[in-house]
Amino acid sequence: MQIRKTELRRLTGPLWVLVTIMAMVMALSGFSYWSTTNAANELDMKRTSRAIHMAIESQVLQVKALAEDNAKWDDAALALYRDQPDADFGWGTWGAVSDTENVYDTLFVTNGHGETLMGYQDGDKSSTDFRRNYGDSLDTLIRQVDRGAESAGGIVRVGTIAKVVAVSEVAPVASELEQVVNGRSPVYIVLSRTISAKMLSRISDGLVLDGLVMTSQPSVASVILRDPKQRIVTRLGWPPSNPGHAAFWKASPIIGLVLLLGVFALGLLLAYCYRFFEELRSSALIDSLSNLPNRRALENEIGNAIRQGDHMALAFLDLDGFKAVNDNYGHGVGDDLIKKCSAAALEFGHECNMVARLGGDEFAILAVGRDADDRLARFAESFISRLSKPFHLGERTILIGASIGLASRSKGADDVAELMRRADIAMYASKHSGKMRITGFDLAIDQRQAESHRIDQQMRRALDRGEFEVHYQPQVGASTNTVQTLEALVRWTGTNNMEIGPDRFIPIAEETGLIDRIGLFVLDRACRDALAWPDIQLAVNISAAQLRNPDFPGNLWAIIERTGFPPERLELEITETYVVLDPIVATRVMTEIQRLGIRIALDDFGTGYASIGFLRQFNFDTLKIDKSLVMDAVTSEGARAMIQASIVVARSLGMSVVAEGVENEAQDMLMRVAGCDQLQGWLYSKAVTADAVLPLIHAIKNPVSGDIGLAMQNHA
Ligand code: C2E
Ligand code: CA
Ligand code: CA
Repeated sequence: MQIRKTELRRLTGPLWVLVTIMAMVMALSGFSYWSTTNAANELDMKRTSRAIHMAIESQVLQVKALAEDNAKWDDAALALYRDQPDADFGWGTWGAVSDTENVYDTLFVTNGHGETLMGYQDGDKSSTDFRRNYGDSLDTLIRQVDRGAESAGGIVRVGTIAKVVAVSEVAPVASELEQVVNGRSPVYIVLSRTISAKMLSRISDGLVLDGLVMTSQPSVASVILRDPKQRIVTRLGWPPSNPGHAAFWKASPIIGLVLLLGVFALGLLLAYCYRFFEELRSSALIDSLSNLPNRRALENEIGNAIRQGDHMALAFLDLDGFKAVNDNYGHGVGDDLIKKCSAAALEFGHECNMVARLGGDEFAILAVGRDADDRLARFAESFISRLSKPFHLGERTILIGASIGLASRSKGADDVAELMRRADIAMYASKHSGKMRITGFDLAIDQRQAESHRIDQQMRRALDRGEFEVHYQPQVGASTNTVQTLEALVRWTGTNNMEIGPDRFIPIAEETGLIDRIGLFVLDRACRDALAWPDIQLAVNISAAQLRNPDFPGNLWAIIERTGFPPERLELEITETYVVLDPIVATRVMTEIQRLGIRIALDDFGTGYASIGFLRQFNFDTLKIDKSLVMDAVTSEGARAMIQASIVVARSLGMSVVAEGVENEAQDMLMRVAGCDQLQGWLYSKAVTADAVLPLIHAIKNPVSGDIGLAMQNHA
């Protein structure tokens, strides 16, 4: 029971899919974590640059406020709006304080003509033309003031230096000083402060940055400072803190651990899957109900033995009547029965190599080795003899049968499929030859099967072409010596005008299901024909396969209605095989038919298991003693006793009795003496065509000469 490599390979596919999915999940979560950290970094960068802008803006506001303070001042207006501005006032007020420690490091006064009137830088007087140096950026700010702003401010490049600059127009606060200004060109105070390393370090301290520097290169972490004309003055850059990445690296041991755990879990999962599939595979080889190896396991075992070149023999075993147990007592009882049978098969198969359950009620027993055939034969015989005794399941006592087919490895049966096919065919041969049998495969069975197939095909064509006929064989009343019943017997003149008897083709039709059509054809034809023979009963054979079709009672009634044949003139002949296998369903169907007014005869009595007790169990109207028993009666005391006893019981149950196959006067006399009501056989007539029936009835009624006449006279 090893697992084949190909089977393993089939299972690795799904495993790889699983692994891929897990790896993808891990990669995806890694990616999403990484992009989250990136988003965090970006957000931090935006926040920082906004804060830097605001810090610079607040510098501008400070300088603006100071410019306003100094410009909107009566003293300043008085000092500056004159032909010669007061330089002493300028120096005293602004010059000394214009140092780097102050809010501004430069202050100068300019007028509407673009002249620098006075200037101070870093605590000193300066004759620099500041107005020119500050360029058109300052002009833009001044224009804003001219348009009415109290002050204007911004960033301006002066030479190589970036400065925070503010300007405000000088004006008196007191209204009575307004005439000082009147008629004069406006004067402005301009304050500025260098964006120095010191300023930047103060800002970066306040914002908790690692350092803020001026840079000319654009970088990821930098902000641009523009002048009032929107030209780039400088860039302020800082080393990005990347909090996302920081968090990432801080979390990296945990992430690593999680990753490791993930890999570990994946490994565990793989191992688990492997074991799971392994178990699945082994359970796929074991039948769960019986715990026996199943068909696959058997095939593997046969395959192995074939590869090793061993001889082997195989038995297929099919229980008879198991379906009825299932139907009548339920699946629980059916399952218990399977278990009992499995145990029995194991017990009797102890000399064999494998007892397998193929499913349903089918088992297989394999023996490997030189004496495999003998061991298997011993198994088959002991198992069949075990089944002659019933099984006890709780309160129930159940009797079932079995059919066994044997096949062994030989030329032409050198692979698993062929060996199994042969055992199967042999098993079916057992079943068809009456059950509780053991059949060894031989090629004749195969040929028979092929022929059966051919015959089935021919029958289908024959049915379509109307090549089937119905003949009638009379049953003569023992007391009246007239024809009382006609038994319909189907006839088929096959191709090449070669007659094939119903004994041959009916079993084939039963197997292939064609019997339904043939049977209905016979019923229909017989009912039509028999309308012409009033007062005579009609007997029609119905096979077990027909009765098992649930549509049968309905179809039967349809024919009665269609043909107008009186149902009380009709009798159906059925055999015990139908009744024995499923007594409960059979009883129901029989009752249904009898309610239609149709009688039922038990055909072929004395050939199978049906005993006298059987007669009491079922409600038959007629008993037909089989021709084999009639034949034996002449020579066998036992057969005579059996017939006698059966007739007594049948009479006591109100059944009428028919003896069939009466070929000679000795048999005829015996059957009459035994008490049969009707006699049927070649002594009176073989089955004849419908046309010949009336003359035959007449001839039997009025014997004048010939065989029949003589016979009749002798017994009259
Ligand atoms: P069966 O029901 O037992 O029919 C009696 C058989 O015995 C008939 O064979 C009949 O011709 C034959 N027979 C009658 N008298 C004698 C005799 O004195 N000596 C001998 N040796 N045989 C005699 P047949 O017609 O060949 O039918 C064989 C079987 O085929 C029937 O056996 C019946 O089981 C089946 N069969 C025939 N017609 C039908 C049918 O329409 N439907 C079904 N389901 N089965 C049919
Ligand atoms: Ca019959
Ligand atoms: Ca018979």
